[in-house]
Amino acid sequence: MSSIKQNIEQVISQITSATEKCGRTADSVQLLAVSKTKPIVAIEEAIDAGQFAFGENYVQEGVEKVQHFATSPQADKLSWHFIGPIQSNKTRQIAEHFDWVHSVDRAKIARRLSEQRPEDMPPLNILLQVNTSAEASKSGVTFDELATLADEIAAMPNILLRGLMSIPQKADDYDSQYAAFHALAEAQKALKGKHPQLDTLSMGMSGDMEAAIAAGSSIVRIGTAIFGARDYGTKQ
Ligand SMILES: *Cc1c(COP(=O)(O)O)cnc(C)c1O
Repeated sequence: MSSIKQNIEQVISQITSATEKCGRTADSVQLLAVSKTKPIVAIEEAIDAGQFAFGENYVQEGVEKVQHFATSPQADKLSWHFIGPIQSNKTRQIAEHFDWVHSVDRAKIARRLSEQRPEDMPPLNILLQVNTSAEASKSGVTFDELATLADEIAAMPNILLRGLMSIPQKADDYDSQYAAFHALAEAQKALKGKHPQLDTLSMGMSGDMEAAIAAGSSIVRIGTAIFGARDYGTKQ
């Protein structure tokens, strides 16, 4: 079995070759290691390998990890991204512990994050989750509602609207993967007229990273390829 360190090196080399293929620089794409359901020791191993950005989906589990690593020697380098569905009774915990939230799709949630972000912390970085596949079952704002939501959220204090995120419907062929990511990148471009600070596109996972990077991704979210398969136990 390969180690977490080897897996990270492998993923980084995939990112690098994907950026080279489309003429981007390797450092224009950030690797977010999705550590949901994985233990503290797995995150420690990733940190030892030089990985400092982590994504979590479950509030309580994520907060415990943030608190654990707050006293680690690498604490200042770490960034914690909340990427899971958000219930309104959990926003305070997110606002008080995370650096980024990728999964905002309602003004109500953003307003609570804004109100609950402690004054002594930097603004919370926000990405709007967009439903690029128009599937009723998936969360995310539709393209039609996006501009209005962005205007509303960009005006809120203590949070900073930084860009868009999507989890497109699984597609095996490059062209359909690319089409969904390109649509998200175009939506961001359109929003930038009014919101020039938008600089982040969270798109691409293990199976569709190359298409996402070609379409302009700046954060790829990778879990299994780094930490191995997840055991959900009682979760979900
Ligand atoms: C779990 C998760 C990932 C990582 O998925 P893997 O298939 O393990 O790489 C990425 N993004 C989101 C939003 C997730 O929930």
